[in-house]
Order: sequence, then structure tokens, then C-alpha cells
Amino acid sequence: MTIPALMPVYPRCGFRPVRGEGCYLFAEDGTKALDMAGGIAVNALGHGHPALVEAIATQAATLMHVSNLYGSPHQERLAQRLVDATFADTVFFTNSGVEAVECAIKTARRFHYAEGNPQRNTLICFNSAFHGRTLGAISATNQAKMRDGFEPLLPGFKYAPFNDLDAALALIDETTAGFMVEPIQGEGGVSVGTDAFLKGLRAACDEHGLMLIFDEVQCGYGRTGTFFYHEQVGIAPDIMSVAKGIGGGFPLGACLATERAAKGMVAGTHGSTYGGNPLAMAAAEAVLDVIEGPGFLDEVTRIGERLRGALEQMIPNHDHLFHEVRGKGLMLGLKLKSDARAFVGFLRDEHQLLTVSAGDNVVRLLPPLTIGEAEIAECIEKLSEAARVYVPASDD
Ligand code: PLP
Repeated sequence: MTIPALMPVYPRCGFRPVRGEGCYLFAEDGTKALDMAGGIAVNALGHGHPALVEAIATQAATLMHVSNLYGSPHQERLAQRLVDATFADTVFFTNSGVEAVECAIKTARRFHYAEGNPQRNTLICFNSAFHGRTLGAISATNQAKMRDGFEPLLPGFKYAPFNDLDAALALIDETTAGFMVEPIQGEGGVSVGTDAFLKGLRAACDEHGLMLIFDEVQCGYGRTGTFFYHEQVGIAPDIMSVAKGIGGGFPLGACLATERAAKGMVAGTHGSTYGGNPLAMAAAEAVLDVIEGPGFLDEVTRIGERLRGALEQMIPNHDHLFHEVRGKGLMLGLKLKSDARAFVGFLRDEHQLLTVSAGDNVVRLLPPLTIGEAEIAECIEKLSEAARVYVPASDD
């Protein structure tokens, strides 16, 4: 037998964390690393935040799981808080981002079905998108590395270049259900959707009676300094997928929708055994208490600008390697002039700095939203030192 017990679908590195504290991870072998990856934008409150730990421990001892067959005061409470804080009128809780995306796709299709237009079942999606790994989500991106070998994919998806409004509008026909887009593409390379592009999609949906789905799984939940990124653009979607930061490390996602968009999501149309169980809800309420606390999001904006400014200052000193900084708030990307994956490995192995690579040779920085000045300074110091000594492989 040569296959490991753990299905080898991840190219896992040698760093093996066993404990976390704030912005730091400690490995099995005692190595301490600065975590600027934050579990890929999940650990919004860092590692071991006392309020989150306490909420989970208390809830675990009280009631961990019941079926969605019963009334849920826990879900009702969090759903109401999300409704109060967003464009949405209703919420479905899932266990992950991709399940929130699936629920969003189903909600959009079901809206048109309920309106008597079942032929309106095609979503216009975008090149380099990442919506997760289910068959539905890999059908919603043109990225071959995620799709190859899993065909036949689901019908009902078309693709336009990201930020190309005219190309997206040209795909609208009588089968179109709407658009699904990450307002800031994460995995695709921290590419920010322009205001004109996102507003143009909104206007087209209003004009043609289509559904606008924002996938804010990565860019939402305070990461860019507002609760959701679309608030900065000044528009709202009809449906939105949320996950990652919402549970602060506890597996949780949510699909948010307006009353109109959720028209078809009636009893019996969707479900989840675990989705929204009391333990997940307790974790999420603890996270939300912190994020909604006075000044928290303003501090994300401030510290995000500090990090961005420091990265930009560093570029001219290492312009053989660094090209530009992208992103918003604490969702930042450092575009390299060579292979990002290799540099991310070098940062991790030689400088104990954890980052994440993304498409287009971008190094993603997605630290805990609670990061402070000292950790930012340490991150910049490690990046500069690494850049000073790094020699890209000749074929990068
Ligand atoms: N959508 C976006 C924008 C994501 O970044 C991700 C994960 O990275 C997903 C969906 C899928 O989330 P999950 O891995 O929790 O299923």
C-alpha cells in the first residue's frame, strides 16, 4: 500500500501546527511561526481567543447538537443579528463556504422557478473564480485545475472575464438566472472587483429581473474593514454566501438572501443535518460580539492600511521580486515577479512566516483581524529579510 491513510489531495508542507496563541502557531517540533494566513481568512479572532474558547466550552457542556426538525432559539438569534446588520431578510446556516455557495445557487434557480420561469437557470460566473469544491462550485469556475477529471460538470454556468462588464452583459439571454461573483477574488489572486463592474452587474440584474449573488466567503465578515465588502461599493446583492470568519475557526457558513430572492425556498426544499447546530451558533455569536464591538472594524481598516503602507514601502527595495500590493483591509496580496508558491514555502521554512499563495503569483496575507502593530512590524521584517536573500529558481 503506497497511498497514505490521509487521502493525499493536499500538497501538505512539513510545518505541523499543534497549538495556537493570538497570531502565532506552534508546531509539533516546537517551531513558532507568525500566522499571516489565519487559516485562510478563517481565524478572525486569532488562535485561542478567550471569548470564543469560553463560548464553545460552555455550549458544548450545555447542548451540542439537535436536529433541524426542532425549533432553534440559537439559530433564530444569530439569523436575526445577521438580518439586522445586512441587506438580508433571511438566513440558512451551513457547515462550510461551499455549502453556502450551493444554497445560493439553489436559491437563485428556485426564485425563477417560483416566478414561473424555470428556464432561467443559468448563472454567469467569472474566469479565475473560486467558489469551493463541490460539483456545483467547480462548475461555476473556468479553472481547469479544479475541474479536470470530474466531468460531467453541472450545466447552467457561463463564464466571462472578471471585471469585464461588457463581456458579462453580452452573455445575458432568456436562460440567465443571474450573476455569481466574488467582489474580491481571493484564490484567483486577490483581484478587487471595480466599483463600475460590480455596480454594472447590479444595474443589469435590476433591469432584467436577475439575481445577483455575491460570494463573500473570503472577503466578508469584517476582513476588509466593513462587515461585508459590498458595503464599500454602495450596493447590495440579492443573495450572499458567507463562511470562514463567521465561526472564527468553528466550521460554519451561511447563505443570506432578501425576502424576494428566497421566494422559492419553502419548507422541504433545502436542508442540512449539522447546519446551524447550537455549538456552531455559540461560536458565531462570540465572534460577532467581538466584530460588532466598538471600533473593531475601524481598527481593521487602520491596521490594514498600516500593513499595506509598509508593504508598499518595501517594494522599491526588492523590486527584483515584488511587483505590487493588491486587496483591501486585511485581505492583501503581494504580487511577485516569480513563482509565489516557492516564495511562500521559503517564508515558511526559512523565516517562520505563514502566508498563502494565490493565482497570478500572489502571496496572500490574511492575518487574524486582531493583529497588532508589533506583529505587522515582525511580518515586514521577515518579508524584507527573506526578499533580501531569496534567489528564485531559474525556471520561476
Ligand atoms: N468561496 C470563496 C470565495 C472561497 O474563498 C472559498 C474557500 O476558500 C469557498 C467559497 C469555499 O469555502 P469552503 O472551503 O469552506 O467550502
